Amino acid sequence: MHIDWNTIDTVLLDMDGTLLDRHFDDHFWLEHVPRRWATKNATSLEYAREHLYSLFRSQENTLNWTDLDYWSDRLRLDISLLKKEIEHLISVHPFVIEFLLFLKQHRKAVWLVTNAHSKTLDLKMRKTLIGPYFDGTISAHQVGLPKEDDRFWRALQEHITYDPARTMLGEDSETNLATAEKFGIGYLIYISRYSSAIQPKPSQQFTSINYFRQLIPVSGSMAVTIPNNEGRFP
Ligand SMILES: [Mg+2]
Repeated sequence: MHIDWNTIDTVLLDMDGTLLDRHFDDHFWLEHVPRRWATKNATSLEYAREHLYSLFRSQENTLNWTDLDYWSDRLRLDISLLKKEIEHLISVHPFVIEFLLFLKQHRKAVWLVTNAHSKTLDLKMRKTLIGPYFDGTISAHQVGLPKEDDRFWRALQEHITYDPARTMLGEDSETNLATAEKFGIGYLIYISRYSSAIQPKPSQQFTSINYFRQLIPVSGSMAVTIPNNEGRFP
């Protein structure tokens, strides 16, 4: 994919996995919550995992998935408090700040667009201090639809003004990139190194990067080329 930054006005960036290390979220839901739930309900960890994973799956692609109040209620655990217990795992991916500074320097409109619940958003902004780099933050809970829903990107236009053809979206969810593609967002970037604990795999469908430095042109230029997934240049 060839990117000429002169043809892009708006950059929409997902939070978890895209800007921040998803190791926190994966560890939280897959390890920390089952552990606490098992202790509280006097079950084995294996049972807790099996039971909770199927509950989580039942809410996939809905706003409940990221709704801390929903899960606190459903699991009878204080999810916000449990998040604070492991907040030391919240961290910004390498080269994110450099990329955000590049966007600011070139006067791009930069929006954080996340499915995360406002309580998660508050905790992460407090911990990472990346909030001021954005023109604003939109939670899918304000829009009333998750990004997985085909109607999301149009509904987002009621909150921010953007021309889809001159917009870039960075995401670690191929589902969300696919809904954005249907709406006509011009530049779709998949973040393959979404967690520091995984071996990155490029998307078969979308242009993939490991780090945002791949989108920053060398000084004096406004263009970059991202090799496609086979390593060839399209
Ligand atoms: Mg994400």
